[in-house]
Amino acid sequence: MSLEFNIQNETDSGGRRAQLVLPHQTVETPVFMPVGTLGTVKAVPQDTLESLGAQIILGNTYHLYLRPGHEPIRRMGGLHRFISWPRAMLTDSGGFQVFSLSALRKVTEEGVRFRSHLDGSSHFFTPEHSMDVQIALGADIAMAFDECTEYPADRTRAEESLRLTLAWARRSLDYHTAHRHEVLWHGEHDSPVPKCEGPGAPATCGGADGAGAPRGSWSAWSPSARDQGHPATCGGADGAGAPRGSWSAWSPSARDQGHPDGRTQSLFGIVQGGMYRDLRKESAERLVEMNFDGYAIGGLSVGEPRDLTLEMISEVLPLLPKDKPRYVMGVGYPDEIEQYARMGVDMMDCVLPTRAARHGLLFTSEGRLNIKGKRYAEDQGPADPACDCMVCQRYSRAYLRHLMHSGEALSATLNSIHNLAYYLGVMKRVRATCGGAATCGGADAR
Ligand SMILES: [Zn+2]
Repeated sequence: MSLEFNIQNETDSGGRRAQLVLPHQTVETPVFMPVGTLGTVKAVPQDTLESLGAQIILGNTYHLYLRPGHEPIRRMGGLHRFISWPRAMLTDSGGFQVFSLSALRKVTEEGVRFRSHLDGSSHFFTPEHSMDVQIALGADIAMAFDECTEYPADRTRAEESLRLTLAWARRSLDYHTAHRHEVLWHGEHDSPVPKCEGPGAPATCGGADGAGAPRGSWSAWSPSARDQGHPATCGGADGAGAPRGSWSAWSPSARDQGHPDGRTQSLFGIVQGGMYRDLRKESAERLVEMNFDGYAIGGLSVGEPRDLTLEMISEVLPLLPKDKPRYVMGVGYPDEIEQYARMGVDMMDCVLPTRAARHGLLFTSEGRLNIKGKRYAEDQGPADPACDCMVCQRYSRAYLRHLMHSGEALSATLNSIHNLAYYLGVMKRVRATCGGAATCGGADAR
């Protein structure tokens, strides 16, 4: 089994609230996914991301493949373990960065030869290789290898690009289907596993040496559990009995769902087709025939006007299966992600909150705020008076401005924490207004 997608409520505008059950986390959707390019959401530690309520983060295949390399990560137990992130992850296919960052690309039917933007070394990516790298990284969701059509692209170019992306989608799916069981945590607990909860829980639920722990569970490979010993009761349904700070104590998957059971990595197809409605339609229909676990709309937010982005999303959404997650890649500003979520987009990611933060741009309930402004030099108020994030609760605009002006590392951290809190808060509000009888586009839904 790959994923479960349980829709809890749908609205007239097409928005839906759902639970996306992934091996490492049950994700409440619609969801915003912070981007952790190189195994880190820049400047923000993992425990802070958890405190902010991030349910799923991205890793970038291209970057991680070049440094530190997917094989070292595989040998260290996969990306979750390497970066100490117990919740859900998604990796992109590497395609977008190959086309946007690398030099001297040569695209053939077989794949893409490119030179690393780091050291000029030569590499060859094929759909099969992208799947192999993503299986090694071991995220909950992998993406089919695609060519992100540039903007603007004339019709002939967009048609050719789409033809390639569809062929690569087929090859990605075939290879992934044949090899997905190689994901390190695949199929854990296919055999009955003692549940570490309730009165009937076995006494040996992960000994000091990990013996007795279910194979592949967090407690089996968590250094903290291994090194510090493990109590007889390893985390009841409510986490009681687990040692504070241990994997099992704070892993939502262990706490909320028992341990992952027999689930494996999912693969999403990516709809391309440039800015041509009929090509987008063809792309969506062909991918749906292939039967992916979920569907993404790619090639947007690449320089086109915003109404065109909206038009393409509106065109594609009704063509995608209602009972599978829909993901729009690489968008957008806070008002955009809210708008798309209310149209029925379940997942979005964007570097904007963290990238803008490092440049001193804060998103607030009062609009965008450039913290570098001189008028904040002695402003004792929080970045956003309506925000309850840990930064706004503690630090003033004057201090944030001072950190920025002084080039202090803490500047990027604090600004990024606030911006992520704002983005995650937008999605939380959308979920709240999509949750019950209220409509997603209700009058009180800003
Ligand atoms: Zn804040």
